Amino acid sequence: MLYTSTRDKSIKVTAAQAIAQGISEEGGLFVPCEIPHFSIEKISSMVSMSYIERAKIVLKEFLTDFTDEELDYCVNGAYAAEKFSSEKIAPTVNIDGNKNILELWHGPTCAFKDMALQLLPYLMTVSAKKTADGKTIVILVATSGDTGKAALEGFKDVDHTKILVFYPVDGVSPMQKLQMTTQEGENVAVCAINGNFDDAQSAVKSIFTNGEIKDELAKKNMMFSSANSINWGRLVPQIVYYFSAYCDLIEMGKINAGDEMNVVVPTGNFGNILAGYYAKMMGLPIKTLVCASNSNNVLTDFLTTGTYNKNRDFYTTTSPSMDILISSNLERLLYHMSGEDDKLVSNLMNQLAENGKYSISDKLLADIQGIFSAGYTSEDSVDETIKAHFDKYKYLCDTHTAVAVKVYDEYVNETGDDIPTVIDSTASPYKFSASVLSAVLGGNAPELDEFEMVGELNKVTGADIPKPLASLKDKKVRFENVCNKEDMSQMVFKLLDL
Ligand SMILES: *Cc1c(COP(=O)(O)O)cnc(C)c1O
Repeated sequence: MLYTSTRDKSIKVTAAQAIAQGISEEGGLFVPCEIPHFSIEKISSMVSMSYIERAKIVLKEFLTDFTDEELDYCVNGAYAAEKFSSEKIAPTVNIDGNKNILELWHGPTCAFKDMALQLLPYLMTVSAKKTADGKTIVILVATSGDTGKAALEGFKDVDHTKILVFYPVDGVSPMQKLQMTTQEGENVAVCAINGNFDDAQSAVKSIFTNGEIKDELAKKNMMFSSANSINWGRLVPQIVYYFSAYCDLIEMGKINAGDEMNVVVPTGNFGNILAGYYAKMMGLPIKTLVCASNSNNVLTDFLTTGTYNKNRDFYTTTSPSMDILISSNLERLLYHMSGEDDKLVSNLMNQLAENGKYSISDKLLADIQGIFSAGYTSEDSVDETIKAHFDKYKYLCDTHTAVAVKVYDEYVNETGDDIPTVIDSTASPYKFSASVLSAVLGGNAPELDEFEMVGELNKVTGADIPKPLASLKDKKVRFENVCNKEDMSQMVFKLLDL
């Protein structure tokens, strides 16, 4: 299996090269040249398997340059039972009838990013051995909150790696901030930027493709890579849990092998939902992928009108990990759905960089709409949804999951399409305690510090407090740097001692 770039099809690299490099030199994203196919028989055979076994079967098809021993080492290490608070790793929970929640936040940082970022450091070190012998890999991360912590936790003290994380100074929850600023490990650094996630992501992308900086790094035997979902190694582990959820629905007696399911994803950078698209293309019977956004509804507009326009107000919401106006992974979808038209993709991405917008043809839009549906949720409805779900089902959602639940309820009302559905739950409610508590209490959150808030949420709802969050209370803050977005490349030099 080889990989190519969304902006230049003549490029061909192995999975290891794609993962070690992170992003293609001309700025495109790596995509598989062909998509492997799973028959219903093969999918059925996975029903009786553990998450680890399911993962190996799916990953093997994409990582053909990894030996079986390498793959075993990576997957067994990433999804070791002691790192997850559920033995199922990613359990599917039935809420009511055909409504199921796929809980993706049982990992060490309590967000779905762990599903990929526990595996990525293993994939990266094996890839680097194959392709970049002896070089230290410098992972540069822009985060809207959860990627940063999950990447820090995954890469801390991993040999031959360093990791630098940039987060928007006012764009993450207090718990997310504390998780990052208290990070332990000798090879880690964290810096806040005066700007939003899009500023951080754009600066990181331009640092990656800056020849001068690359040369400086090379002199010190270092190279950059990415732990954002622009890296194929971040996306491929996410394909697994769609297969796993489908198998769970069979196991739970909700569907028979071959039946269709719908999938609903609270979306920001379009990585999670794109993994669902790959699963569908591989033969997993997914009918519709519902893309759920918060008030930053650039994707809802794109999927309804065919025009992507990031020139709009940016809202800071209670679901900060979705406060994104440039959804990087849409580029991969456009590549696949346009019949691998690299010229078109480069052209659209240039328009996005220059004018902040582009439009696609009616034909391409219609094809995309054949697979994707989209909706968004206002802040008030997020709170109402958390409360309504808790009151009715005693099920506590975080703010991001609530966006998806609300968009799904509206989707069913509008279309009547209520076949068995999996709604991705992307974070523990305790990462956003203040918002969740005030929603549950109907808008009257008490004035408490972060950990009192956690205790109060536990008292009111009875939901278990994840250990990794409770233990932050006694940790020391290590990183208090703040820089302007223009100064990020200088900060990189400083943090790396260049
Ligand atoms: C990252 C994140 C999202 C958005 O996922 P994308 O893959 O960027 O679309 C949604 N919810 C939470 C809690 C997240 O951390």
